[in-house]
Amino acid sequence: MKMLTDNFKRKIDYLRISVTDRCDLRCTYCMAEDVTFLPRQEVLSIEEIIKLTDIFNELGVKKFRLTGGEPLVRKNIVSIIEHLNNLKNQGKILEHTLTTNGTNLSRYASILRKNGVERINVSLDSLNAESFKKITKWGDLRKVINGIEVAKQEGIKIKINTVLTQNFNDKEIFDILDWCKRNHFDISLIEIMPIGDIGEKRFNQYLSMKKFEEDLVNKLNLIPSKYRTNGPSRYYEYSDHKSKIGIISAISHNFCDTCNRVRLTCTGKLYMCLGQNDFVDLKFALRNQTKNDIIALIEYAMLIKPKAHNFEIQKDNFEGYVNRYMNETGG
Ligand code: SAM
Ligand code: SF4
Repeated sequence: MKMLTDNFKRKIDYLRISVTDRCDLRCTYCMAEDVTFLPRQEVLSIEEIIKLTDIFNELGVKKFRLTGGEPLVRKNIVSIIEHLNNLKNQGKILEHTLTTNGTNLSRYASILRKNGVERINVSLDSLNAESFKKITKWGDLRKVINGIEVAKQEGIKIKINTVLTQNFNDKEIFDILDWCKRNHFDISLIEIMPIGDIGEKRFNQYLSMKKFEEDLVNKLNLIPSKYRTNGPSRYYEYSDHKSKIGIISAISHNFCDTCNRVRLTCTGKLYMCLGQNDFVDLKFALRNQTKNDIIALIEYAMLIKPKAHNFEIQKDNFEGYVNRYMNETGG
């Protein structure tokens, strides 16, 4: 059985695929409002994405997450999900899931469930309709909550992703946690990462998890959990409830030593690290060369996967920014 391993002996068995850079929202920490989306000819076709999933799977990748942009605005996204489900039914992969903003979930939830998606991450930064609109620029909270409810009824396990933003939702987090608890959802609280120049100082958005986490743990009597994935989250548990709280603090607490993933963009760039600019371009080989050439490029990517990200957020310092937006590599 083949397996991808990088130079630091980390086993890479997880691929995140950003299936589109397009999105129906404009979260202020993710992309600029006047973002220009990629011309269609630059974007991989559904068939090309499927071909790459098969190659990664043959190389030992067992977990796939579809992301974006917003994966549920990509036309024919269901073909990829069906394909991943076929691989799962043949015992070739362990899991396929997605991260979504939830705006189209009510339409897609039953299709996802029928196609083997057992759990999803839904991003939600506020339960207040006005604040939600403010952070997403034009999102409709009711649509997202409705989508989440439909997905829950379908039996899909839901984890909420909440990006912690200074002077925005830091006060509201307790309400969001309470809502998650009542609905039996896990939640990940995410520290803002300086990915892409969004025309605003990251320093003004960034809230360090360090102090915040301490308050959270004390106020809610949280217990550090033994639960681990190879992902970036550290988990806490309630003493009286099963919902888990994950903390993703890329800046204040580096988690790279257990990294098990690489990321494919919708243009076929393979990023070995979310927090670095290096990539290996698979599109040319995909369109013009052989499967062995693609495999050689993926194996080369493993050799140059960096040890760690070098995110940094300092006052008046734009250096350290990754020179692409989060919707390109997905989350
Ligand atoms: N559109 C989908 C969504 O919002 O869930 C999937 C793509 S989005 C880029 C994936 C995740 O990245 C979301 O949870 C979002 O909140 C998070 N994200 C976007 N920009 C970020 C940033 N600069 N720092 C930290 N998280 C970010
Ligand atoms: Fe769109 Fe997700 Fe980025 Fe928000 S975080 S703008 S929903 S891609």
